[in-house]
Amino acid sequence: MADFRNLQITGKLVFGRGCFDQLDEILGSKRLSDDAPFIFLVDDVFENNPDNDIVSRIPLSGTDHIIFVNVDDEPKTTYVDELTETVQRKFSLLPNGVIGIGGGSTMDLAKGVSLMLTNPGGAASYQGWDLIKNPAVYHVAVPTLSGTGAEVSRTTVLTGPERKLGLNSDYTVFDQMVLDPDLIKGVPKNQRFYTGMDCYIHCVESLEGTYINAYSRAFGDKAMELCREVFLQKDSWDDDSDEKLMMASYLGGMSISYSQVGVAHAVSYGLSYQLGTHHGVGNCVAFDQLEEFYPAGVAEFKRMVEKQGVDIPRGICAGLSDEQFDTMIDVALFLEPLWENALGGGWRETATREKLRALYERM
Ligand code: NAD
Ligand code: ZN
Repeated sequence: MADFRNLQITGKLVFGRGCFDQLDEILGSKRLSDDAPFIFLVDDVFENNPDNDIVSRIPLSGTDHIIFVNVDDEPKTTYVDELTETVQRKFSLLPNGVIGIGGGSTMDLAKGVSLMLTNPGGAASYQGWDLIKNPAVYHVAVPTLSGTGAEVSRTTVLTGPERKLGLNSDYTVFDQMVLDPDLIKGVPKNQRFYTGMDCYIHCVESLEGTYINAYSRAFGDKAMELCREVFLQKDSWDDDSDEKLMMASYLGGMSISYSQVGVAHAVSYGLSYQLGTHHGVGNCVAFDQLEEFYPAGVAEFKRMVEKQGVDIPRGICAGLSDEQFDTMIDVALFLEPLWENALGGGWRETATREKLRALYERM
């Protein structure tokens, strides 16, 4: 019997400069109860920020409530549980919805909280594939940083007590995306590059993987082309670059949603778990060393690094103990679908613990 994934995709999407101001109208039809709130989870980089007025533009009404979230550390299962309990303590009614305003971390927190409001037992117990039992409350993505594709994916990536692993489920997918390129305007250059490279690496891993198919290729090819335009072909960053990078993130996310990521992500998850390295920069550190697996992609990546004048950290694994290397290797190898996508069914012969140790030592 045929066994193709029946992909859940985001319900609604609004795209365009200034579309954030339509949020009021969009939420209006989802206000099922006037007594229940909408919960806005907002990256705390926007709290009292004179350079960015997004908070004053949030359309609050009734009992609606803003919670500023801190993403200095990438999201943990414990943080999702803590935020969920805060909402449950403050409001006896189930919220009308949860809106995440920020980068991949904040969007993942919003996904996590919307799921945990309707699924008992704590986020760590749902780390894995299709373990979520009940639909989430209505949830909306408002990206302010582009590249992760978290706005379209069916996962929320969380670090738990044992591993960094997503809550992967159809219910995780956002009900609505608000893609306003104006919101990513002020992102510092290095951060924009690291998160942008997350998208570029999604494309390489999807297009070069064994799971590739015409659907994923169609999105991946276009996303790759947009990354090349903004990071290689243009001489300066402009509004058009913001629009293109926002679309690249979306399309790259669509590409991996029907294929898979690969070696850079597996290795980067190990770095993140052990060292707390953030996803975008961790991917860059890992990808920089992966010529063996992705020769053309790594060569092009190095040209982008040079053109953009960005530093990729080196020596982050210096001085780690055997035990720490082993933990990173365990986290990376646990992600079997990523290795299978990258290297095919016989991946265990190539992705040995010795090879991973040597790779990590070079980072
Ligand atoms: P991020 O959300 O961690 O944010 C990085 C930094 O940029 C933070 O300091 C944040 O405050 C700041 N920032 C965000 N928007 C800004 C703006 N407009 N102006 C100035 N500063 C801004 O970064 P990210 O790279 O978008 O997300 C990484 C996270 O996404 C990781 O936790 C990773 O695991 C996750 N992720 C999830 C998926 C998914 O499918 N769910 C995919 C890839 C990555
Ligand atoms: Zn990624």
